[in-house]
Amino acid sequence: MDEQDFFGEGELVAVLTTQPLDRKLDYKAPEGGCFRGAFVEVPLGPRKVLGVVWGKGRGDFDYSKVRSVNRVLDVAPMRDEMRGFLERVSEYTLTPMHAMLRLATRAPGLSDPPSMRKIYRLGEGEPSRQTDARKRVVETLTEYGGLAFTLKELSDMAGVTSSVVKGLVKQGVVREEDTPRDVPFFRLDPEHAGKDLTADQAAGADALRAGVRSGKYGTTLLRGVTGSGKTEVYLEAVAECLRMGRQALVLLPEIALTAEFLTRVEARFGSKPAEWHSGVTMTERRRIWKMVGQGGAQVVIGARSALFLPYQNLGLIVVDEEHDTSYKQDDGVLYNARDMAVLRASICGARVVLASATPSLESWANAEAGKYEKLELTSRFGEAVLPEMKAIDMRVEDLPGSCWISPSLQRAVNTRLDKGEQSLLFINRRGYAPVTICRACGHQIGCDHCDARMVEHRFLKRLVCHQCGETKPMPEECPSCHVEGKLAPVGPGVERLAEEAQTHWPEARLAVLSSDLFGSARALKEGINTIAEGGADIIIGTQLVAKGHNFPLLTLVGVIDADLGLQGSDLRAAERTFQLMRQVAGRAGRSEKKGQALLQTFQPEHPVIRAILSGDELGFWKTEADERRHAGVPPFGRMAGIILSSPDVQQVFDLGNALARSDGPLRAIGAQVFGPAPAPIARVRGRHRVRLLVKAEKSAPIQAALAQWVGQFKLKGDIRLSVDIDPQSFY
Ligand code: ADP
Ligand code: ZN
Repeated sequence: MDEQDFFGEGELVAVLTTQPLDRKLDYKAPEGGCFRGAFVEVPLGPRKVLGVVWGKGRGDFDYSKVRSVNRVLDVAPMRDEMRGFLERVSEYTLTPMHAMLRLATRAPGLSDPPSMRKIYRLGEGEPSRQTDARKRVVETLTEYGGLAFTLKELSDMAGVTSSVVKGLVKQGVVREEDTPRDVPFFRLDPEHAGKDLTADQAAGADALRAGVRSGKYGTTLLRGVTGSGKTEVYLEAVAECLRMGRQALVLLPEIALTAEFLTRVEARFGSKPAEWHSGVTMTERRRIWKMVGQGGAQVVIGARSALFLPYQNLGLIVVDEEHDTSYKQDDGVLYNARDMAVLRASICGARVVLASATPSLESWANAEAGKYEKLELTSRFGEAVLPEMKAIDMRVEDLPGSCWISPSLQRAVNTRLDKGEQSLLFINRRGYAPVTICRACGHQIGCDHCDARMVEHRFLKRLVCHQCGETKPMPEECPSCHVEGKLAPVGPGVERLAEEAQTHWPEARLAVLSSDLFGSARALKEGINTIAEGGADIIIGTQLVAKGHNFPLLTLVGVIDADLGLQGSDLRAAERTFQLMRQVAGRAGRSEKKGQALLQTFQPEHPVIRAILSGDELGFWKTEADERRHAGVPPFGRMAGIILSSPDVQQVFDLGNALARSDGPLRAIGAQVFGPAPAPIARVRGRHRVRLLVKAEKSAPIQAALAQWVGQFKLKGDIRLSVDIDPQSFY
């Protein structure tokens, strides 16, 4: 750090806090001074809040009234590159800086003194009376030669209750000590257990290693079918990063962050990496945050917000399943973790690996344009081969009205049952039936707060709104005409499909995999393990099964409604369907047995269905890219969505119209505004939603224009406005 980065006691510093203020506040540097980037506690009104010293104070305030920084926190200061990164994300996503800082400090108790916990090691004393249990405790401690354990670890390892250990503490046989909780992670060893790679895997690993060694920014798109060994290959890039003494981050969609994956990383490097996602305890979060900042964590495996941890020396970011839509979700800040990973890496001279079997059109286009390097793994590892894909033309199948498993698909399942192999029936819809209709009056049961139908969940015995989560019991009578006993389900969900499967195959063991049917991540994991070990003959599943799980006995995938994703006006409908279908199909035949995927469709000639079946990915992307280029939409043009919402429908439309009329700043950069129109889901949680869409050329400075445009209006009352740059979906 330079001299000018230090502020002596009493000098004015500008502090960014996590409070919703539109500027940084001036404070006097505390006793002993502080550096730029220091995390500090400052007084704000009657409270004490967290902040970061951003630079020199503005000094536009009476010096004698300026308060002092309370204290500098005992954590690594924020690095210049991190401040730069937060500023760039803020500018790109039009997010205020206080919200960015909040995202970057998502760990509790950063200002607390280090907390302590009790550990146990061998003491000097002799037990008054020897028992087997006591002997085991002493033996365990002796065996590990002086190491200390937590109470739980020790009692588990010795196979005794914790009171046995406590009893030994009283007699001085075991010593109880306090130790700080925030301890570094075990070192990971890049040489621990590498696999012998196949020729194209080895070539891929070499290329990625060379990239990491260059120490310069660069992005590689690593494409390869499911099971081709992408994970094995990028773990070699992680190893190289470790050899260079730099940190590595592997981002996964939350749902793919399984214990199985962590075990694999541990097997490769000999110790557990840091694990960052919504299920991690608060204490562990704080430990990771601090250790990442001090270099006490070399590898983080995390969900998207792990991108905002305070790495000291980040050398590699892997974004696995880079096409996954969950990388773009509202964390209080609306950002796409994949795109921001590239940004972060370009600031700190790190490499990025984007891995996918079915890359996003964005990444594909960037690779075509030469902005990203391309790596391909073409074959599946070992004996596994890609499944054969076929359509089942539903127009010619003989199927009664409320059944969804066609005779052709039934026959295919029968064959697997005979051979003792597994089948997966896939439908991307949770619950029993998407619609409940009254056969007396035609009324469809909707959510009271949203413009959405309630979905029947028989398992829960309730109706659930998939928008807001509101539930209610299934009524006896129609809420509209009050006739009893006339409510009927329309259409299939995963639960109803299971019911149908049960009637076809009463003897078969069925397993239903849907995110809402498992109380906890652990229960889900157990369910998946049981299935993988052969504990089911037929798996009925939603999107949940499309990601990352390995079922070696599975040889048939039946897609119940391949047309489902093609409906709707979403720009990415085709791309999403293509990706999802390919991924689901990829579940079949992951080991030696060849798999088959059957797609039930009413439109087998649809270009997307044809592309899925033919496996002509390149052809699909080229066509899709041409269409989007022609329409001037992403990735060939820029888009931004504006959602206005308010309990008052008139108010949202008034503001929407006013915005549309005052589009001067947008016209100045050649951008167009569409709308206002009711959003596709026009009411959520009782708030009416109106949408405007802005389209511009790729090179247009859209952020500045948007800021100027919406800045013309002050938001009154309970109206909310959110800007979504590069919207992923339009809901
Ligand atoms: P992907 O990430 O492309 O889906 P994985 O890396 O998960 O593929 O590989 C699929 C399976 O094959 C995994 O169980 C993995 O351990 C195994 N595998 C892949 N390559 C090798 C190899 N070279 N040696 C041993 N096992 C491998
Ligand atoms: Zn609702």
